[in-house]
Amino acid sequence: MRNCDILIAGGGLAGTAAALAAARRGHDVLLVEASNCLGGAACNCLVNPFMPYTTEDDAGNTVFLSAGIFAEIVDRLNDLTRTFDGEDSAALGVPAKTFSEEYLKILLNRMASEAGVRLLYHTQVVAAAREQNRLTTLVLSNIDGLTDVRAKYYIDCTGDAALSAASGFPTRLGRPGDGLCQPMTLCFRVGGIDRGTFRQNFYRMQEKYKSLRAQGIIKNPRENVLLFSTLLESVVHFNTTRVVKRNPVSADEVTAAEIEAREQVAEMMLFLRQHVPGCEHAVLLSTAMEIGKRESRMIDGEYLLTQDDLLAFTHFEDGIAACNYDIDIHNPEGSGTSHHYFPKGKYYTIPYRCLIPKDADNLLTAGRCISVSHEAQASCRIMPTVATLGQAAGTAAALALEEGCSVREVDIPLLRRTLSDAGAFLG
Ligand SMILES: Cc1cc2nc3c(=O)[nH]c(=O)nc-3n(C[C@H](O)[C@H](O)[C@H](O)COP(=O)(O)OP(=O)(O)OC[C@H]3O[C@@H](n4cnc5c(N)ncnc54)[C@H](O)[C@@H]3O)c2cc1C
Repeated sequence: MRNCDILIAGGGLAGTAAALAAARRGHDVLLVEASNCLGGAACNCLVNPFMPYTTEDDAGNTVFLSAGIFAEIVDRLNDLTRTFDGEDSAALGVPAKTFSEEYLKILLNRMASEAGVRLLYHTQVVAAAREQNRLTTLVLSNIDGLTDVRAKYYIDCTGDAALSAASGFPTRLGRPGDGLCQPMTLCFRVGGIDRGTFRQNFYRMQEKYKSLRAQGIIKNPRENVLLFSTLLESVVHFNTTRVVKRNPVSADEVTAAEIEAREQVAEMMLFLRQHVPGCEHAVLLSTAMEIGKRESRMIDGEYLLTQDDLLAFTHFEDGIAACNYDIDIHNPEGSGTSHHYFPKGKYYTIPYRCLIPKDADNLLTAGRCISVSHEAQASCRIMPTVATLGQAAGTAAALALEEGCSVREVDIPLLRRTLSDAGAFLG
């Protein structure tokens, strides 16, 4: 049996920020992560860059909607990348921020260690026991076998709401009606590209891709080629595979998705080498260790944030994070991607109640599995925002522990004040 004050399941950007926030208040935090590093999708799924998280005030000043721990991560990551590689990630990919996931792994280990977070990699939460609305024990599975762990408070940052589901709190999957989630994507990197020639032929490449799709030669349902810069001139990041209508919380279906996506990578490599100027000598450098899930299981929380809340730029009294990323829905059924962009200066906030599974006493969630609708999740799922949600959850669990109250009884003005004092932007 292991014991701790606050157990965090999942070390993505949400879980990492949650652990840092709670441990910095002096609590004994155990962070359990299935893979071998912190960073979640950024590292395991090669997701890059950080999507934009700024707006402008009336005077034209830049406002950072994701601040606090996320800003610390970005600043320190820039420093680390510059120190080792002489590259400044801030100089590239503006307004989206391109970064090195390898230095991110090193940085997040260091930040966890400085804060006193206990880490347990290669470990999965596989079961949970509950008395009424209070989680009592978790079961961890790793090379040591099965181990019980008991904490006072728990935070589910697994992306799949795995802990909430295992403990029997209600969850939802996909959009209303057909239950379909946004598509999964296996990201990959291609080297050996002559970027000057490639850039000049960018629009021609898109036309060729569309024409080959129309002829049925390219099978990938994605409508165009989605790619981003990397810190290396000759390497391009592709976010362009698309697997639709697969259940992201079924092992069989995710396996099928991985296989389908890898064939799409092969198809893209042929396309690049045969049809795209600048890619004649392109080589496949890496595919992500895991296919990326934009959307999967989410909790039924004390509040459900909806598209209407976003479109009204709602600022909640218990708002603990702010966001203005567009409502970016990759078609769950096939081709097409819809966007709704927020006007300059406008943003919405995310209420603390979205982090609380209905009626839970000592469980919170953070990240892409909080209580939001399919459409609202399409906006607030980005990495900068999930980090701010994590910081809020870690801080709230710490305050609940200090006050000896349930997560539903946390003093909201105190939570917001504490977050602001720690650099968070709450609007
Ligand atoms: C293909 C794709 C492209 C995207 N593009 C962008 C982009 O360009 N920019 C951007 O900002 N955002 C992008 N996003 C969104 C963003 O990457 C994710 O929504 C965000 O990283 C989610 O963070 P998280 O911490 O909530 O979850 P995750 O990053 O998914 O982390 C969850 C962690 O929990 C661990 N875990 C899961 N189950 C268990 C368990 N039972 N026990 C222990 N550990 C467990 C996992 O290993 C993982 O490390 C993209 C997402 C995808 C899939």
